[in-house]
Amino acid sequence: VNTATGMMSLIFIVIVMNTDLTVRRSLEIDMRKAIQDGDFQLHYQPQIGEEGQIVGAEALIRWRHPRTGNIPPADFIPLAEETGLIVPIGNWVLRAACAQLALWETQPETRHLTMSVNVSASQFRQPDFVQSVTEIVRLSGITPSRLKLELTESMFVDNVESTTAKMNALKAIGIVWSLDDFGTGYSSLSVLHRFPLGQIKIDKAFVRDMLTNSSNMVVTEAIIALAANLNLQVIAEGVETVAQLNRLREAGCLAYQGYLFSPPVDIEAFTKLLAPEAASTVWSSWPRPSVP
Ligand code: C2E
Ligand code: MG
Ligand code: MG
Ligand code: MG
Repeated sequence: VNTATGMMSLIFIVIVMNTDLTVRRSLEIDMRKAIQDGDFQLHYQPQIGEEGQIVGAEALIRWRHPRTGNIPPADFIPLAEETGLIVPIGNWVLRAACAQLALWETQPETRHLTMSVNVSASQFRQPDFVQSVTEIVRLSGITPSRLKLELTESMFVDNVESTTAKMNALKAIGIVWSLDDFGTGYSSLSVLHRFPLGQIKIDKAFVRDMLTNSSNMVVTEAIIALAANLNLQVIAEGVETVAQLNRLREAGCLAYQGYLFSPPVDIEAFTKLLAPEAASTVWSSWPRPSVP
């Protein structure tokens, strides 16, 4: 009986593993095709400044799969990383985001906007990373200081020298480094002054629990204070309520991103958000500071 049961579970495991492999393999093939077929798209989420104005956008990839519909980045970026496909995908993202930024720079109403782009670990580790970014930036004609590249804490764990060298090389041409999802990793606080960062993003997990969990509030306040002391810009992610916004403002955080203002949207919808009329309707809940 035991042997039979054992056999059955073994067969079961083999089937599950194969299915998993088949799914991953077909996803990989589809991903290669998606690059060629133009099935990737960028959405833009506004970043809001002190007075409720849009100061920039984060570019977020979307995959419109021809058969299964939209696939969220969390479901394909990890596989893209493992298979190395993140390199062509990441380059596509950077080219598309820079092309949009270049367009914004041609219009007086949008030329102040910045663009944030996520960079994945294996993309950053490529020996020619600095060269490809420099090339894309140069060809697009953008002002490099309006481009922010987002890294995560995990990338600071090893290869400190080469990480610092790469960051310095791109900082030298004007690009700003931003530390995404700050507070969720296991790195020490020393990353904040050891690496040439310009911005930190407070992870949405802190913002979400800030008002219900006092230790999260303490950590959030400490991050904001630390950023100010180190001359780093700070932006809060995942701001969903006016209560969170007010608390962040009190703590001295002056830039925000989150569903309270807008989810990531396509370029047509983003352009509508930029219209002057939108300021009064879209941010109706914005508690504007009273004019003295
Ligand atoms: P991220 O860089 O931390 O991006 C923020 C994520 O939070 C986005 O999810 C955004 O839609 C979501 N978000 C924004 N505001 C709120 C809010 O108020 N509440 C909640 N609950 N969520 C909010 P998205 O677009 O699904 O992206 C997930 C992750 O996938 C990103 O996290 C980023 O790590 C990765 N990703 C997205 N696009 C790219 C890309 O072009 N390249 C790379 N390498 N990674 C990307
Ligand atoms: Mg990000
Ligand atoms: Mg990220
Ligand atoms: Mg984040």
